[in-house]
Amino acid sequence: MSKYVYSFGAGISEGAATMKNLLGGKGANLAEMTNLGIPVPAGFTISTEVCTWFYANGKQYPAGLSEQVDEALGQIERIMDATFGDAGNPLLVSVRSGSRSSMPGMMDTILNLGLNETTVQGLIARSGNARFAYDSYRRFVQMYGDVVMGVRPEGKDAHDPFEEILERKKQALGVHLDTQLSAEDLKELVAEFKSEIKHRTGHAFPEDPKVQLWGAIGAVFSSWNNDRAIAYRKLNNIPESWGTAVNVQAMVFGNMGDDCATGVAFSRDPASGEKKFYGEYLRNAQGEDVVAGIRTPEPIEHLEQEMPLAFAELTGIYRTLEQHYRDMQDIEFTVQRGKLWMLQCRVGKRTGFAAIRIAVDMVNEGLISEQEALRRVEPDQLNQLLRPVFDVSEKRRAETEGRIVAKGLNAGPGAASGKVVFNAHDAEEWAKRGEKVILVRIETSPEDIRGMNAAQGILTARGGMTSHAALVARQMGKICVAGCGALQIDYRSRRMTVGDTVVKEGDYISIDGTTGEVIAGAIPTIPSEVLQVLLQKTLDPAHSDVYRRYASLMEWADKARKLNIRTNADQPDQAAAARAFGAEGIGLCRTEHMFFEEDRIDAVREMILADDEAGRRAALNKLLPMQRNDFRGIFEVMNGYPVTIRTLDPPLHEFLPHEDADIAELAKIMNVAFEKLKRKVEDLKEANPMLGHRGCRLGIVFPEITEMQARAIFEAATDCQKRGVRALPEVMIPLVGHVNELNLQADIVRRVAGEVKAETGVAVEYSVGTMIELPRAALTAHEIAGTAEFFSFGTNDLTQTTFGLSRDDAKFLPEYLDREIWPGDPFVSIDRGGVGVLIQIGVEKGRSVRSALKVGICGEHGGDPDSVEFCHQTGLNYVSCSPYRVPIARLAAARAALS
Ligand code: ADP
Ligand code: MG
Ligand code: MG
Repeated sequence: MSKYVYSFGAGISEGAATMKNLLGGKGANLAEMTNLGIPVPAGFTISTEVCTWFYANGKQYPAGLSEQVDEALGQIERIMDATFGDAGNPLLVSVRSGSRSSMPGMMDTILNLGLNETTVQGLIARSGNARFAYDSYRRFVQMYGDVVMGVRPEGKDAHDPFEEILERKKQALGVHLDTQLSAEDLKELVAEFKSEIKHRTGHAFPEDPKVQLWGAIGAVFSSWNNDRAIAYRKLNNIPESWGTAVNVQAMVFGNMGDDCATGVAFSRDPASGEKKFYGEYLRNAQGEDVVAGIRTPEPIEHLEQEMPLAFAELTGIYRTLEQHYRDMQDIEFTVQRGKLWMLQCRVGKRTGFAAIRIAVDMVNEGLISEQEALRRVEPDQLNQLLRPVFDVSEKRRAETEGRIVAKGLNAGPGAASGKVVFNAHDAEEWAKRGEKVILVRIETSPEDIRGMNAAQGILTARGGMTSHAALVARQMGKICVAGCGALQIDYRSRRMTVGDTVVKEGDYISIDGTTGEVIAGAIPTIPSEVLQVLLQKTLDPAHSDVYRRYASLMEWADKARKLNIRTNADQPDQAAAARAFGAEGIGLCRTEHMFFEEDRIDAVREMILADDEAGRRAALNKLLPMQRNDFRGIFEVMNGYPVTIRTLDPPLHEFLPHEDADIAELAKIMNVAFEKLKRKVEDLKEANPMLGHRGCRLGIVFPEITEMQARAIFEAATDCQKRGVRALPEVMIPLVGHVNELNLQADIVRRVAGEVKAETGVAVEYSVGTMIELPRAALTAHEIAGTAEFFSFGTNDLTQTTFGLSRDDAKFLPEYLDREIWPGDPFVSIDRGGVGVLIQIGVEKGRSVRSALKVGICGEHGGDPDSVEFCHQTGLNYVSCSPYRVPIARLAAARAALS
């Protein structure tokens, strides 16, 4: 018979860390810890295969499962010396979800299962502590009522029904903390919770422990498809088919009294990455109390004084685990009457800052290799290092103005300003209309993730560094200040009070996730430390640890990668920025961007309006010196690195006004009749400009344009060569669909190159190539490569022309993505199945006639890690992306080479 259930306990387990796919991350690591001799309460894991079976078979279970569960339960009973459902000595269990990749708080956990009116008496007798027994009981009824029976808040401003009953009870008794409730109070709460369940659902709370157990198992499997789990999977690209496992584990109790505690800790600081034991705990508490932010927890250091033995053991264990897994660990533990129990370990989620620091530090500590470090940093996490910080002087001013109103925990580094909203739904709605918002909550819960994702930053009043808000912010790379106790938040009136400052919905606030400060009003930001070193040169690298770690990581990436990284830049300052970020050339310099400049748009228009070639040449002669200057500036910055310059690409109408009033004004300036100008504008009008008279089609009809641009390029290059600057122009002809088009244009370029050489006596190293952005070009690449010395895939246009869709008119795109008709946005990541195949064909056919053909891409995709991986696999020579994406592309290329 198939094996569905895997036991662990008393130093032996049937599973191991390598079995994550089958046992889920939690189950596999519980098994691994057990094998390592770490104290873990006995339990068993029902495999993810059962989850798959469950969904494939109308929420039924496979035959034999129930027997295997009974047997495994029997084993827990023997190890724990207690019996499930027994009146005198009851075994209690937790039922916990756990998928392959951790989804913190996304699915549901139930504690203290097995309690009922009879067994609670046994628990009182065995523990000698009625308060503890009823505290456990009311928690169980509450969790079971929520997770299994569906009693939960309805509507976005609503509070939890059980929490409301609890609050009322506390108010009536005049107490503030759960811990101040007596056994009798808690017993009453159990009854009130049960009648609330009956009232809301029409069903009684089940008393039979076996019924409870199967109810809980079913609820965990079902939670795999609840809204928030689905939303989370979407955000994190987790396939639905993975399923979750269910872990059933003997309870240990952190809520038996003051010699008990429960906590969460990290082997390094998950926000900054600093190497120090980092965590929080609560005395006399259970389960999610720490995470839920119901009481503000204590820093882990205090445990050393309060429970020295347990702390010493915990320290030994976290070190063992970090060495064993060779990565930062996130651990959950409970101390029951001074005795430590481990309940979970996993590789800890971290901010981009921390990911980089931990990876680089671990290489320096000899724990991991440079390659491993590269694998551990997601390319996009580098964005966090480049992200702005608050301008110090602006912040100081806010301080003198008394606008720093509170301080919370620095849970997600970075600086954010925005308008306050008080619920996740509004955060989403407001962000959709383009507002920058800060989501302010008393505490966040898994329902809020979409809103958290939409917000610039997150601010909570309750909860610590391991609270849900902090956890999710870390993972999303959001700026977050958590546990800011000074905030008094009222959801209903949509305002919060901090001291005597009142902040209403829609007011601006700023949060500093690096320091934890909350500031009234907006604050301007300045570039990050990395940018201050690289671009502004206002910071000495010796004074910036952040920069030095960045530099190490980049150095390792450069060693590992095979792809060259270039940049798309049209101006010397952009080129300089890209060089500072490590660009090894320009992959796309768009000449038309220069045409819009104030001092030359007139000459461009004059050229367009000219009646004949002579008129056009006269106008082009005015443009020549300006273009030459542009190119010279770029060559100087890129000294020794190739610069790919694309000849004129956009349709000419883009350079003319379209409204009558503007046309009239221009007619006056240019001293032509309104009618004539108007007619020209009409003449140039196209139904589908993207597919119209543009790209090489312009240079073919008006060869003098290409001629002027080629001359500007070669004269600038010659000029540079003379001054010892090495210019390496690569002239790129856009929108070629037939080799004859390229031939016509390449002839002009080569002829002009020869003329300039004859005139100046200086030889310039150059090449002529083409963009591949039409399917026909890819399909006839073997013909085109006869002329082209390089190819550059223009993947923006190639995506449009392959899909037969104009990006400007793709208003339906969001719906396509929502309904997953396309697996992803093809303008973000290369569509491997279609556009990608054309690229492969183009490369193959091109190299079949010219083996040394240099091939790159220059679309927006050049800075997208997934597309960079594709380019590596397809054997491209380089990718070209915007300057700020260059570090990301370097890392992505290294990771592609390593995988
Ligand atoms: P999540 O996946 O959301 O982290 P868990 O399954 O880890 O949920 O459960 C949440 C918390 O419940 C744990 O951190 C732990 O404190 C508590 N818990 C779970 N099982 C047990 C148990 N057997 N004994 C004591 N506490 C438990
Ligand atoms: Mg957990
Ligand atoms: Mg194009």
